[in-house]
Amino acid sequence: MHNAAIAKLGVDFVYVPLPIAPENLAIAVKGFEAMGLRGFNVTIPHKQAIMPLLSEIAPVAQEIGAVNTVCLTEQGWYGTNTDAEGFLAPLLQLSTPPNWQHTTALILGNGGAARAVVAGCAELGCRSIQVVGRHPEKLEQFRQSWQNSPAGVHLSVHAWEKLPDLLPTAGLVVNTTPIGMHPHEQVSPLDFSDSLQSASVQIAAGTIAYDLIYTPRPTLFLQQMQAQGAILFDGLEMLVQQGAAALKLWLQQPVPVDVMRQSLLDHLHHAELQIQRNIN
Ligand code: NAP
Repeated sequence: MHNAAIAKLGVDFVYVPLPIAPENLAIAVKGFEAMGLRGFNVTIPHKQAIMPLLSEIAPVAQEIGAVNTVCLTEQGWYGTNTDAEGFLAPLLQLSTPPNWQHTTALILGNGGAARAVVAGCAELGCRSIQVVGRHPEKLEQFRQSWQNSPAGVHLSVHAWEKLPDLLPTAGLVVNTTPIGMHPHEQVSPLDFSDSLQSASVQIAAGTIAYDLIYTPRPTLFLQQMQAQGAILFDGLEMLVQQGAAALKLWLQQPVPVDVMRQSLLDHLHHAELQIQRNIN
């Protein structure tokens, strides 16, 4: 999708994948500097390891505790995180947005993507942020990591078993777990609570259900929430928008987001056909 936008803009750049082993990250970054790279994305397992190699880190990346986008400046490498911006983009485009200050956000999962979602919900000004996870120690660590947040993030953490009590009070429910992602389309994070399986999911009118997963579209979780009348968002737009935000930073000019979205949709459709061919 980056190269589709680059072609549309007619600028002389290329976006290429560069697999780098963890032990080679520092030397690779030195090499990028020597080669005059404009910038790069980093993904697992480099999102934290890159941080000491940068000369400046944006507050949002410090808050999230991970960098996904790096850009060369006169002062050196500048790192930021565009995932929260990507997550927020579709919510900010709602024609009749809820009153975020009265909205409780319920986040399923406490991994890397959940951190960007927490930062996004804090930026929206959500009244409260509740995080549900399966490992008490990880949940507690997650809670503590936000305690001294400069943005004043206040969140509470809960066991999965609490989901049936928490769901009816949430105005925004975000699945940040991989549950329901291809090839496990038949499962949903809502199946992981026995009391939810026996009772039907109860949600308030106007609840927004957001799944970060983009294959399949929609996931079983979104289908279950749709059956209860929720407004749905899948992870496609977040993926497009976090990429567009990075490209804009590198090129220092507006980028054609619609071209990037179409390119991604074409790629996903192609991947879907490929999967079907493998199955048949
Ligand atoms: P991650 O760091 O591995 O976190 C995954 C979280 O899901 C962890 O909290 C994990 O719990 C929880 N989890 C996994 N399986 C579970 C299960 N069976 N029951 C309960 N909890 C479970 O992964 P991530 O990077 O955050 O990514 C998570 C998902 O978001 C993936 O599907 C990814 O594709 C998607 N994503 C989408 C975008 C986008 O742009 N749309 C961006 C980033 C991520 P434990 O820690 O207890 O194991």
